[in-house]
Amino acid sequence: MPKGHHYGRTQTRAYTGEYHRIHAKVFKQLLTMPFGSYSINAEHLSNDHQKFILKENKNGVRYITFTINDKPHKIALKRDNQSASNKLYITCPYCQKQRQSLYVIKYAYACRQCIGLHYATQSERPQERLMRRIRKLRMELWGNDWPDVNNMFEQVAYWPKPKWIRWKTFEQKRNKINELEKQYWPMAIAQMKTTFGDQFMEYL
Ligand SMILES: [Zn+2]
Repeated sequence: MPKGHHYGRTQTRAYTGEYHRIHAKVFKQLLTMPFGSYSINAEHLSNDHQKFILKENKNGVRYITFTINDKPHKIALKRDNQSASNKLYITCPYCQKQRQSLYVIKYAYACRQCIGLHYATQSERPQERLMRRIRKLRMELWGNDWPDVNNMFEQVAYWPKPKWIRWKTFEQKRNKINELEKQYWPMAIAQMKTTFGDQFMEYL
């Protein structure tokens, strides 16, 4: 194994759960381009995350539509007329707020707030408590070396065994986390559905 490689990093697994972002400034040219189909050329994006259609609504606001997992994701391109810079913003398909960037998640584009919604609240619900516990147990096993350690969209079932731990102990600990994740997801999905309605991704 080449120097500097971490365990597991050599696996050819697609980290679709990792949070890449698209920035509003990328779309600046579209303010003057003809309407029609376009594509973002970025290897880390899925096909659905690349292709979009540029249109204009009846108020003269340009918007782009991605079809991700058969669901339309409408993102408006909005100029900030208040500032002299005329900065461009893109709107989040879920909350419609103007953002400088949107996160790429498995089956959606969404803003930071929408992604983090289920743990950003002050009052901790059982689901959030469970999520913290899962993250803590994951951290004990994989630490920060594993890129998905905090990513609840990725499940630990196939994560590699760290070198320092015996197989038996590892399996016990991983199975425990697995079990907790199984309890976590039905709760999380129920809440996301309430938040996002039917538009929310369903891939479990
Ligand atoms: Zn949002």
